Amino acid sequence: MQFGHPTNLVVIVEKQGPHKIRKASFPMRYGKYSEIKTPEHEFLFNLNGEIKFIRGLTPNWPHPAEQLKRTDGNDWVYYTVGDDSTEKGINAWLGEYYLPCLPYHGNSIWEINYTANPGIMSGFAAWSQLYANLYMAPKNKFHSKARNLISKILKNDDGVLLERAGRLNEIIGERVSVLPPDTRHVDYEVIPLNISDGCLYKCKFCCVKSAKPFMTRTQTDIFDQIKQLKQFYSKNLENYNALFLGNHDALEAGEELISAAASEAYKEFGFGRQGAQVPALYLFGSVHSLLKPENKLFENLNQLPYYTYINIGFESLDEPTLGLIGKPLNTQKVKDAFNRMLDINASFENIEVTGNFIIGEGLPEMHYQSLTQLLRDAPAPSNGKGAIYLSPIKDSPKKLELLPLFSEIKEQSSLPVYIYLIQRL
Ligand code: SF4
Repeated sequence: MQFGHPTNLVVIVEKQGPHKIRKASFPMRYGKYSEIKTPEHEFLFNLNGEIKFIRGLTPNWPHPAEQLKRTDGNDWVYYTVGDDSTEKGINAWLGEYYLPCLPYHGNSIWEINYTANPGIMSGFAAWSQLYANLYMAPKNKFHSKARNLISKILKNDDGVLLERAGRLNEIIGERVSVLPPDTRHVDYEVIPLNISDGCLYKCKFCCVKSAKPFMTRTQTDIFDQIKQLKQFYSKNLENYNALFLGNHDALEAGEELISAAASEAYKEFGFGRQGAQVPALYLFGSVHSLLKPENKLFENLNQLPYYTYINIGFESLDEPTLGLIGKPLNTQKVKDAFNRMLDINASFENIEVTGNFIIGEGLPEMHYQSLTQLLRDAPAPSNGKGAIYLSPIKDSPKKLELLPLFSEIKEQSSLPVYIYLIQRL
């Protein structure tokens, strides 16, 4: 429904985009949302009336395919298409058509400070102006449906949005400090649910670890989170089709807890709606949790009504490198886990295990040699499964200089290789 207004606002109360997410070089809009357009900007709102996207419509905006996106953690992320749209550009590095520029310090190879760009910052000023205009607008000039939308938007000012992000952290127990790289397939739009806390290793190099020792949550706690999350997402719940089981090693929580959490969430969140794609389940695992001898875990995961991605931090095959980064593993364990990853990917149709290795200045030459050989000798997956993510060490200087190294490893690898951008929720 579209309503024009004398103040040059075009209000579309409800739009329906495609259900199925696909990779595109232009911003695609999925699910149901509302839209308000001024001559200069386009603003998109979710079904709760919370601002979600801002895109400029004039030549002042850097590129028509770029936009600002607000996450559920209330971060504004700027999606840039970069300056190289060929196959050798962002798409080759990330497997996506855009680079998310984060408003906090991350491990990105490209530090793009979007806040220094007046064209982009005009989007925030325009959002404040739109809010003020909606507040002042004579509501009787709008159709009743547009009036309802405006009233929902006005209830979600910046203060409320910040509080809601805090509420999300409160429900799950802490902020999600890192999302699995595979969540890029749903543009990081996941519902977080913590089934455990902490991790097994507490590696020295890690900048996202939790201070807590590894501990599973009880089923009661998990089901309670699900109940509260359902209320939290409210009407907009129908726009989600992916679950992240947190936090840093949910695989270690074991088959019973994973299955119970995933099944209850599937039912309560209404995943698997008509026309939607198969819901995605994301979790992190560790070398130890992947190497646990039982196959039952994977057999049961394979039966869940999800396509499951398990992301494992291998980091390196080289023992001096593992020592340097303070990861308590040895070469044999990493090799065994890597082979297990290949086996699982070949044997279970609905499970995809992916792995991370580090890159960065100052790492031993042997780290790169052993990694290149491992990826070169791995059997090429017939189904394209099992991406390898190279994660720049956070404070590595000269990160941009790592790109040729990345390309060299990628070219020799029989598995797909991308760069891992650490993102929080
Ligand atoms: S890299 Fe993974 S296992 Fe190591 S400390 Fe960080 S979260 Fe824990």
